[in-house]
Amino acid sequence: MRTTVGIIGAGPAGLLLARLLHNAGIDSVVLESRDRAYVERRQRAGILEQGTADVLRAAGAGERMDREGLRHDGIELRFDRTRHRVDFPGLTGGRSVMVYAQTEVCKDLIALQLREGGPLLFEAEALAVEDAGTDTPRVRFRHEGREDVLECSYVVGCDGFWGVARKAIPAGLTQVFERTYPFGWLGILADVPPSHDELVYARHDRGFALLSMRSPAVSRLYLQVPEGTDPGAWADEEIWDELERRFETADDWYLQRGPITQKSVTPMRSFVHEPMRHGRLFLAGDAAHIVPPTGAKGLNLAAGDVVTFARALVHRQETGSPELLDAYSQTCLRRVWQAERFSYDMTTLLHRAPGATPFEDRLQLARLERIASSRAAETDLAEAYTGFPFG
Ligand SMILES: Cc1cc2nc3c(=O)[nH]c(=O)nc-3n(C[C@H](O)[C@H](O)[C@H](O)COP(=O)(O)OP(=O)(O)OC[C@H]3O[C@@H](n4cnc5c(N)ncnc54)[C@H](O)[C@@H]3O)c2cc1C
Repeated sequence: MRTTVGIIGAGPAGLLLARLLHNAGIDSVVLESRDRAYVERRQRAGILEQGTADVLRAAGAGERMDREGLRHDGIELRFDRTRHRVDFPGLTGGRSVMVYAQTEVCKDLIALQLREGGPLLFEAEALAVEDAGTDTPRVRFRHEGREDVLECSYVVGCDGFWGVARKAIPAGLTQVFERTYPFGWLGILADVPPSHDELVYARHDRGFALLSMRSPAVSRLYLQVPEGTDPGAWADEEIWDELERRFETADDWYLQRGPITQKSVTPMRSFVHEPMRHGRLFLAGDAAHIVPPTGAKGLNLAAGDVVTFARALVHRQETGSPELLDAYSQTCLRRVWQAERFSYDMTTLLHRAPGATPFEDRLQLARLERIASSRAAETDLAEAYTGFPFG
């Protein structure tokens, strides 16, 4: 098999890239190790920055998002039983975010790709990227029980944190920056209307909690739990009791309970692999960087990377100049590090580290008070949350 761009992974990064290339008249092949049902059901991100939503629309993949997604103009910060709303459009000159689940983004992009785009092979596992440093990189993969080779002009590793693409960059050329956190998120999906119409980020002495939603009828809620927690160890009523405690307010707000349909624990990690390019191999999305989910940035970074790659390749084809492809890693990393900083800040602002001292607790509250009382501090949060510019 031969193609211009070999894409490993059909998560949001790989699927959006395939769509952008198709629209630009550039052929690609997508290899995805899992089956379609698995990719379409994997519960993960839910917040699209304004720039990500705009890119999906421009790519012809925003029709259902605009019909079913929920535009959000703010979030609520909750601490010390008080509530503070951050008004995004008022602070950023009109920007907002879209609540539309990653599962739905993937479903829309898969349907488009199968209908209009190039090959998208499910249950096709990339085994290795070979000759990455040359003009003729190849992906060795296994599909339907046999091994095959995809010859490419470019390979883009969109295969997530556990993928194979990153391993093709020689260790001697690589620098890794990493931090793990001593806690994770116990996330639930529940068939109950959200108890608030915007996301609620709660800082509590017992730990962080997040109220989010997938639709007007389905809530998504998270609790900070110790690293390595078994989700099965939490009974449903225990989860609701704990959420209720952490969301407590001085007014008459209350949390609606409903049947829990899914439970899982997500570890928290910050990770950046530099560079994001080696020869004709490019890394995009979680293959190159991970952020803790507190800032809702992972999917949005993935979108930014593939937009940057697609623009650079179109520029190369139209002008013959490789300058944008050559600058890919630096261009993406500038945005990546801003998202790393913001995600780290939000995580340390809202989570209670094991063994946190009373001094540290007071500092957290002082930082939250500062956001609630200073337009400059609040604007900084709103600008970062609604998204850094692409490219
Ligand atoms: C609980 C949770 C909540 C989150 N909330 C948010 C949020 O609100 N906002 C946000 O922006 N981000 C959020 N994120 C992060 C976001 O989900 C990820 O950043 C996003 O999925 C990255 O997309 P990706 O395409 O780079 O990688 P992935 O989604 O991981 O996709 C990689 C794909 O590659 C495939 N693959 C792997 N290895 C191979 C191989 N060898 N061969 C072929 N295919 C392979 C995988 O099966 C997968 O389909 C959240 C994450 C979690 C876990």
